[in-house]
Amino acid sequence: MDDDEVSSWHTKVKPKALVVGSMIKYCKDRLKAREEINDFISEMKEDLQKTSKDLSEEKPDAREWYIRKKSCASFLYINHRDEPIACSACKMEFREVETEYPCRVCDSVFHKDCVLEMKDIHPSHIEAVEKANTSVGWSCPACDDLGLLLTEEELHDIIDTFEEEIKPKDGQISPGEFKNFKKKQLGHQLSEEDHEHLDLEFRLADRDGNGIIDWWEFLNYQTKVKLAMRDQRELVDMLTEKEVRVAKLAFSHMDVNKDGKVTELEAKKAFSDYFGQVNMNDR
Ligand SMILES: [Zn+2]
Ligand SMILES: [Zn+2]
Repeated sequence: MDDDEVSSWHTKVKPKALVVGSMIKYCKDRLKAREEINDFISEMKEDLQKTSKDLSEEKPDAREWYIRKKSCASFLYINHRDEPIACSACKMEFREVETEYPCRVCDSVFHKDCVLEMKDIHPSHIEAVEKANTSVGWSCPACDDLGLLLTEEELHDIIDTFEEEIKPKDGQISPGEFKNFKKKQLGHQLSEEDHEHLDLEFRLADRDGNGIIDWWEFLNYQTKVKLAMRDQRELVDMLTEKEVRVAKLAFSHMDVNKDGKVTELEAKKAFSDYFGQVNMNDR
């Protein structure tokens, strides 16, 4: 072998050997990674099997744990941000020790004390703000003021109803006055069922639970009535980005088999899960 031949062997074969060598190393590394992934997957599968076994045995604590874990994950997803954020009231950034109280409707976050210090805050907010960090959530005073969504005409209509139609004696509506107002609207005597239904409606409208509906509570209540009368598509357009995110997440939770459709069974299951949570946190 002369020098020329040696150099040509070097140039032709050695690089090839290097390539093959690194190929083998590459494949080995991949195999190792693959093994790790397989291990991880089988571990996950075992975990899932265990969870569904627990669930099928209907251990109440396992079920609650599962619902809590799921709602905790969605909470993190909905409120996830990359940037540090500031309190929408005092504009100060949150320190690590401070708890953020996010609004469920808009992207605002608050210090609890900042919410409580706001002027004209409705008493019902004081308790409700505690729910901000649960899956039930809480809406900030700005978003909570549904009256802002009304047209001028709708707002005047509500004022007229309050002042001319109901004419509450003390400026606040008692349960009796509320029932009379509803009776006139229904146009017939109230059945026992109507009474039950109206008692419930009164309790829902009486947000601070003090037994009377003040003007702001009535405005909130009647606004919902007005909004419910609007076209569905118009209502969808009024949703904030965050609400759309939440709705998408709710849908994907409901769509258990991920076929892009929610069956009646899936909807029923989601409904009972959701109201299970609400009852758990709403007390
Ligand atoms: Zn603040
Ligand atoms: Zn808000």
